[in-house]
Amino acid sequence: MTDPILERSHALRTEFFENEQELLNSLASQGQFPDAMFIGCSDSRVVPESLTGARPGDLFVARVVANIVPPYGTGQNAVGAAVEYAVLHLKVKHLIVCGHTDCGGIKALDHPVNMATEPAIANWIEFARPAQTRVDARGLSDEAARHQAIVEENVLLQLKNLQTYDAVRRALAENRLELHGWVYDLAEREMRYYDATQDTFVTFSLSNSQAVA
Ligand SMILES: [Zn+2]
Repeated sequence: MTDPILERSHALRTEFFENEQELLNSLASQGQFPDAMFIGCSDSRVVPESLTGARPGDLFVARVVANIVPPYGTGQNAVGAAVEYAVLHLKVKHLIVCGHTDCGGIKALDHPVNMATEPAIANWIEFARPAQTRVDARGLSDEAARHQAIVEENVLLQLKNLQTYDAVRRALAENRLELHGWVYDLAEREMRYYDATQDTFVTFSLSNSQAVA
């Protein structure tokens, strides 16, 4: 009797351990010093390391349905605990909230969720409800545009929720932390990021980046 998932991944894992031997040894003996925390959706298509080019030790990660950060004081502490640890102990310089298109958690806001059979989902997605409400006040008729707008609004909502944590507010006030809002477009295979100066999400391209630099 063996574990089938470990069995089928054995060769890849062995190769990874061999190729990254030096880095993994250093991380095991020195500890972790990640530069950024990535808060993303649990969706299997949203792979933080692939989207950022991160190697082991680079990225502290929390992945939850619809990349939600419950505000401080709600009693939902899983994401907040990771955020406090990242900011206070790991002293990350960047907090990234990354949403994505075709998000099942966001789509669930449009359908009745059965409180009797899936109470955890029903309660959890309510943390994204204000994003839907705000977008629907705009009266967008195109369904794809509406979904994209809710995904973006939800990223902004969760960035606000991050600031309900003392640790985040203090680090921002002391200029040792930056917040980033991203959306990964699965179909277009592109990243959009929130540009506060334009108050909108823009598609990342190197020319944008050079213009800012
Ligand atoms: Zn999702």
